[in-house]
Amino acid sequence: MPTHHFIANRRQPTRDDQTIPVIDPSDGQVFDHIARGTAADIDRAVQAACAAMGDSLDGPWARTCARDRGRLLADWGRAVLEHADELARVEARDTGKTLHTARNDVLALARYLEFYAGACDKLHGDTLPYETGYTVMTVREPHGVTGHIIPWNYPVQIFGRSVGASLAAGNACVVKPAEDASLSTLYLADLAAQAGFPAGALNVVTGYGHEAGAALAAHPGIHHISFTGSTVTGQRVAEAAARHHCPAVLELGGKSPQIVFDDADLDAALPVIVNAIIQNSGQTCSAGSRLLVQEGRYEAVVAQLAERFRALRAGPAASDPDLGPLVNQKQHERVRQILASARAEGLTEAARGQVLADAPAAGYYQEAVLFRDVPQDSVLVQEEIFGPILVAQPFRTEAEALAMANTTPYGLVAGVWTRDGGRQLRLARQLRCGQVFINNYGAGGGVELPFGGVKSSGYGREKGFEALLGFTTLKTVAIRHGTID
Ligand code: NAD
Repeated sequence: MPTHHFIANRRQPTRDDQTIPVIDPSDGQVFDHIARGTAADIDRAVQAACAAMGDSLDGPWARTCARDRGRLLADWGRAVLEHADELARVEARDTGKTLHTARNDVLALARYLEFYAGACDKLHGDTLPYETGYTVMTVREPHGVTGHIIPWNYPVQIFGRSVGASLAAGNACVVKPAEDASLSTLYLADLAAQAGFPAGALNVVTGYGHEAGAALAAHPGIHHISFTGSTVTGQRVAEAAARHHCPAVLELGGKSPQIVFDDADLDAALPVIVNAIIQNSGQTCSAGSRLLVQEGRYEAVVAQLAERFRALRAGPAASDPDLGPLVNQKQHERVRQILASARAEGLTEAARGQVLADAPAAGYYQEAVLFRDVPQDSVLVQEEIFGPILVAQPFRTEAEALAMANTTPYGLVAGVWTRDGGRQLRLARQLRCGQVFINNYGAGGGVELPFGGVKSSGYGREKGFEALLGFTTLKTVAIRHGTID
């Protein structure tokens, strides 16, 4: 595997040869190293991206027309599919994902590239009615150089939705993957060069967030930054970007509720509710981590879920478990601390899954846990845990459910399970979040569907055509040509 940065289509070592160990979360052992990027490395990458764009949009990438950008993205997407098995293995070892989850992530990445390949030459401005004697048009232009700070939970998917859209819109990209999950991003950069992207269109600098990440957000040569990760880091990134008037998209996680009414189809709802919290071991920004159940079905739902939770197995990928390990020691300790304070608070555990006997003791395994009757002001209800922990609460009326759903700092996603059409529409309008799913959760991923949050979940939209618009700036051109007298 490459252990260098990827700048101007070449692997380049970091200036001072410092590296970061890469740890396998399934056994806690070091198996590789990545380069520990510095502000100087970020600067080299930004310069390469600037050269690809040119000072006056006259660089080789800026001159690549929309149709050809689309063809390059499509070729790259096909190469991803050809390497899907190997990419999935790399991703699984680096992040602790099960092979099945890692492979699904790679397929989603290929779909993002396919979607944005097809969208390149459908992105256009308008002509606007104005005064007689004028023709006025708007032109969609790339921002220039875009920065992408990627977290460790879905490295290839988040890379695909962010970098795919930005390149499709004609920007050159500088990517800083998470220090805990950089290998797949370097692999993808190699595939991009092989697909024929010109030097500088895509650059990757690995390293720590407070070093390479902070340098990227603060670099005056970056014209747009997209960040996915924690709320605190997102604020820092947006502050650094604002100092040089750089727009930002922030995707900062959530505490998303699933609301189950008495008339819900439980056979359909329960497997989806379980999957929405154990997927990727709960390390999903849109995880369905809160469960609000109307009082008539509360006991039945908790009992059935408890049975399912007790059967869930955490273990290494080789054992084909329901949950892989958490990504790193820090995350493992954080989740354990939250569980310890929940116990100290006297909160009631309704069920706990198992860790498989063959799981190495040094791995970062966490059983799935179901809590019940948790008060609204508890940390378990208010804070993103990023582990396989589901919190059940009963409610009486629709108004009460809505108030509980909306009363956390976050607003990313919500799921509603009911057969009542009026209630479906009322809640779709009144839930304070970026996506509402009725009688489903996540709609199978939905590359086409705009995604992002409100409140502490961030702002701006990723995915779909909406993301493509966000990666452009609008220029108005007014031509005064007069009239024939
Ligand atoms: P983080 O937000 O600190 O890291 C995310 C990315 O930001 C990484 O690439 C990191 O290197 C980079 N980064 C860190 N500090 C930076 C800085 N000062 N400037 C620029 N970039 C910086 O997240 P974490 O510490 O890995 O995880 C902490 C918590 O964040 C988790 O427990 C979870 O709750 C949340 N999280 C959410 C998501 C999500 O998808 N919303 C993803 C990862 C983590």
